[in-house]
Amino acid sequence: MGYRRRGKDITGGVWFGEEKGEGEGLSPLFFIAVAPRRRRSCSSSFAVSAPPCHPRRRPHLATPRPRSAHSHLALALVWPALLCSSSSKRWWWWLWSCAKFATRIFRGIFDLNYCTYNMTNTSQIITCKAVVCWKVGEGVKIEEIQVDPPKSTEVRLKMLCSSICHTDITSIQGTPLFKFYPLALGHEGIGVVESVGDEVKSVKEGDMVIPVFVGECKECENCISEKSNLCMTYPVRLTGLMLDNTSRMSCRGHRLYHTLSCATWSEYTVIDVNYLVKVDPSINPAHGSFISCGFSSGYGAAWKEAKVESGSSVAVFGLGAVGLGVISAAKMMGATKIIGIDKNDMKREKGEAFGMTHFINPSNSGKSSSALVKELSGGMGVDYSFECTGVGPLLTESLEATKMGTGKAITLGSGTEPYVPFDPFSILFGRILKGSIFGGLKSTSDLPIIANKCIKQEFPLQELFTHEVKLTDIEQAFELLKQPNCVKVVIQI
Ligand SMILES: [Zn+2]
Ligand SMILES: [Zn+2]
Repeated sequence: MGYRRRGKDITGGVWFGEEKGEGEGLSPLFFIAVAPRRRRSCSSSFAVSAPPCHPRRRPHLATPRPRSAHSHLALALVWPALLCSSSSKRWWWWLWSCAKFATRIFRGIFDLNYCTYNMTNTSQIITCKAVVCWKVGEGVKIEEIQVDPPKSTEVRLKMLCSSICHTDITSIQGTPLFKFYPLALGHEGIGVVESVGDEVKSVKEGDMVIPVFVGECKECENCISEKSNLCMTYPVRLTGLMLDNTSRMSCRGHRLYHTLSCATWSEYTVIDVNYLVKVDPSINPAHGSFISCGFSSGYGAAWKEAKVESGSSVAVFGLGAVGLGVISAAKMMGATKIIGIDKNDMKREKGEAFGMTHFINPSNSGKSSSALVKELSGGMGVDYSFECTGVGPLLTESLEATKMGTGKAITLGSGTEPYVPFDPFSILFGRILKGSIFGGLKSTSDLPIIANKCIKQEFPLQELFTHEVKLTDIEQAFELLKQPNCVKVVIQI
């Protein structure tokens, strides 16, 4: 069913439009009463089959409804009293008051209808489109899937947009991280709460939320510690299932596994509330999607994992979203020398936008990346190095680029190989190698801080947004990723 409107301007509360869809069969008087409200709440890009004020028509549902159904009805009852007590005898005052009285009655009835609709709707299975990988090596397909209602601690989201992270590519090509298929893909994204389970108190319908793949219970050994973000109660889930070891997604009778408990390349998804972070609805949805994994993993790695000191030197291998996040946080922490390394010259401009001070393209030289970094840092190497590509041989290069005795290398990338070549002498000479998941960020404590910085535009996230596709054009997105100027492909849902 479609939805369209036409007719004259409705300013003044009179609706001359025509409704097709769920509104069919209602009297013209109904439209007169609710028309002004619809104009405020609907967005063209989300105006698909749904009741007029349903979340799918209201992408920024965190904007509170102006008045509840009961308050409209209560006000309607107060109007006669106000009329009787009024000393005004002017005819227009009486006319206006009567119109207001009628509007309150109809709005109240409309809102009650809305609530009733939602109560029945949220207990139903939703059929929608999603991107599925049936088997490693078979690529991806757009499928019509079924999304179950959320159980007790779960939340069903209407996704607004998603983006592609390197881990998504490896999940399609095959990696030791993902063992279960068919896989409902995607882990970056931002969405609006469509419905919640009985025990969910921290978010409500209409809230804007970011899915994360590691939770924060604030009680386990790692959550209490400042040393790790890897919550033991809500860990990174590689089973592809919800906390009760079942799935909320299926396709043609087959159970679908959720990518990292998120499965964001879908019009709707179900996520446990402990893997969600509520954000201010004023956040740019694309930027919100970027900070759900890639950019934040880099930002956190310099901020929380390495705790880069003021005046220190930093090398960043790979200037994608993760690497640019590292540069941004290194600058924020006061690093004075930030060296970016990438084989693509077009990344120089991106790196400089985030605070990079030096750029190396190793393709232009016969020397190794670590040797080139040392040339730029007095022969000693840098204090901190970040490997953001997942390319195996770069692990040793990244470590070798740091100072003997004190250098620290953080690895953030994951490739498709189970084992990578590594020179143990790099560590023997006093360097430290550390891996990091989500940049060491504690999801509910640290991510809102990055989200606020994002809203205040403290870093130029628009530089990441280079391409955009519709969910149904996902194949095109993989082609775009091969272009040299591509940093992030946003998937509009
Ligand atoms: Zn915990
Ligand atoms: Zn990711």
